[in-house]
Amino acid sequence: DHKMTPRPIRQLDEGAINRIAAGEVVERPASAVKELVENALDAGASRIAVEIAEGGRALIRVTDDGHGIAAADLPLALSRHATSKLDGDDLLAIHSFGFRGEALPSLAAVGRLKITSRAAGSPEAAQIRAVAGRVEEVRPAALTRGTVVELRDLFFATPARLKFLKTERAETMAVTDTIRRLAMAAPEVAFTLSDGDRVLFRADPHGDPLDRLALVIGRDFRADALPLDAERDGFRLGGHAALPTYSRGNAAHQYLFVNGRPVRDRMLQGALRAGYADVLAGGRHPVAALFLRCDVRLVDVNVHPAKTEVRFREAGVVRGLIVSALRHALAQGGHRSARVVSG
Ligand code: ADP
Ligand code: MG
Repeated sequence: DHKMTPRPIRQLDEGAINRIAAGEVVERPASAVKELVENALDAGASRIAVEIAEGGRALIRVTDDGHGIAAADLPLALSRHATSKLDGDDLLAIHSFGFRGEALPSLAAVGRLKITSRAAGSPEAAQIRAVAGRVEEVRPAALTRGTVVELRDLFFATPARLKFLKTERAETMAVTDTIRRLAMAAPEVAFTLSDGDRVLFRADPHGDPLDRLALVIGRDFRADALPLDAERDGFRLGGHAALPTYSRGNAAHQYLFVNGRPVRDRMLQGALRAGYADVLAGGRHPVAALFLRCDVRLVDVNVHPAKTEVRFREAGVVRGLIVSALRHALAQGGHRSARVVSG
C-alpha cells in the first residue's frame, strides 16, 4: 500500500516558501499598501504618495522621500528574512513598523514588483524587478530621492487568492481605511491616495494630532472630542474619545494604536466598549482614537505576520487604564455638554 511508504522529506524552495508566507502577510491589496507605507514611514519619509488602480489589484505605487535603499542592498530587500531594522538579538525591542523582512519578498512572489530607489547621499539611483518570485539584476535608474515601489497584478501568480478579492469598490475602501489609520499614526507626514485622476484621501502635515483625527473622522469630531491622558504602571493612554452623542451605528471610527502602530485588538476594542457601557445604548458604537504607549518590552507585536495583533504582558492593567480613563473623560464631558445645553 503506497500510503504506508513514507515519502522523502524535501526542503521547499525559496519561491514556494515565499508564496506560502505571502498568504499570511498579504491578504488583499490593503495589506500590501500597509506594508509599503510602513516601509516608507520606517525610512523617515515626510511625504508619501500612494496610487492605485482597480482597487490595488492592477497597480499599487508608493512613492516616498525617505532615506532610500543602497543599490547593493536591493537584492537583499527582496530576499527573505533580510531586514535593516533588527539586529536579531532582541525581538522585544522593536521600534519600527517592520522587523520580519518578509513583506517585499512576499510581494515579489505574488505579483510584478519594481523598486526604484536612491540612497541618501548616493549620486545615482538603481532599480530591481521581480516577477512571480524571479528576481532580475539590479540596473541603474533615474530618481532624485527616496523610493518608488510599484506592484502590478497582485496575486496573478496565486490565482486561488485572486478569487477571494472583493469588488473593486470594497478593496478601494479597505486601502483607504489603511491609509487613514497610518495617517493618524503619523500626523507630521503628508499623505495622498489617488486612483487615476481621483484623489481619495489627502492629508497635509499636521502639527496638532487632533487636526489629523478631525480630518479622518470628520470636522465636527473636534467639538465633541474629549482628550484622554492617563497613566498606570508604565502604560500611558492619550488620544481623543467622542461624546456619546457622536456615536455611530458601526465600529468603523474606532482607531487603536500601540506605540504608534495601528492595531486591531479584541482586548482593546472590548475595553473601549466597556468604557462607554453606561452611556451608550445597545447597537451604538463609540468613536475614538486611542493611543497607548508603553515600554516596548511590555507588549509583543510579533503575534502574526501582519503585525496588527498584540499581546500585553499585563492585559488587565491596560484594560483597567482604558476603561477608567474613558469613564473619567465621559463624566467630565457630560458636565461640559450639560453646561452647553443649559447655557
Ligand atoms: P522589514 O520592513 O520587515 O525590514 P521588508 O521586506 O518590508 O522588511 O523590507 C526589507 C528591507 O528593505 C527593509 O528592512 C529596508 O531596509 C528596505 N526598505 C523597504 N522599503 C523601503 C523604503 N521605502 N525606503 C527605504 N528602505 C526600504
Ligand atoms: Mg516592511
